[in-house]
Amino acid sequence: MINPFVTRRQLLSGACCVGLGMAVGVAAETTESGTIDVEPYPRDANEALARLKLGNQRFIDDKPRHAHEKASWRSLLVESQKPYATIIGCSDSRVPPELIFDVGFGDLFTIRIAGNIIAEDVIGSLQYAVAHLHTHLVIVMGHEGCGAVTATVDEMLSKTKELKHIESLIKSIKPGLKMLNLKQDRDSLLRAAVEANVRWSIQELLALPGAKRALRDKRVTLIGAVYELNTGHVRFLG
Ligand SMILES: [Zn+2]
Repeated sequence: MINPFVTRRQLLSGACCVGLGMAVGVAAETTESGTIDVEPYPRDANEALARLKLGNQRFIDDKPRHAHEKASWRSLLVESQKPYATIIGCSDSRVPPELIFDVGFGDLFTIRIAGNIIAEDVIGSLQYAVAHLHTHLVIVMGHEGCGAVTATVDEMLSKTKELKHIESLIKSIKPGLKMLNLKQDRDSLLRAAVEANVRWSIQELLALPGAKRALRDKRVTLIGAVYELNTGHVRFLG
């Protein structure tokens, strides 16, 4: 339990932590009894990743705690935000990052676009998250059954054409799939294509000078992942 009179800004900036004997930052939320639960803000990308993995396990086990949803918590976020990870994910309705990782308001900076492609505006959003919000962890998360990836594979197989702006998505995805064996069975091909697309997005990010610097200076950790629709498991790529 902490002093409920700590200001929102102090809570989000971690300024109250010295008195609390905590390392860096806190996450707080009023419980049913009126006390405030505290949770240390992740000190680095490893801690942030560990927290997301724990949340994903709760989600898989069907035991989500739905933290950081109540009005008391949201009120702390009115003045500012301090998300501890950025997720570049797909727009698909079946892959909402906050639910998959059992986190709440203010925890994640999410950038969602069909096929989790690295478009110019995605880069701008990511730059904002890293430069201004200082998220240490960036995850590119693809998913099984991705329609954008499937459309790209189908076009590579049958030379079909999609609508103009869907073609634009396919054009972004296609270079990352060029090494795939198109003759393997369809399920294996689509699974491989989803993972290859995540790796391609990461490769595109790594080619950006700003991203290179951030990674070299260890300000950011960049990691790929694939969400499995059947199990709910997020498989992180090595
Ligand atoms: Zn998708």
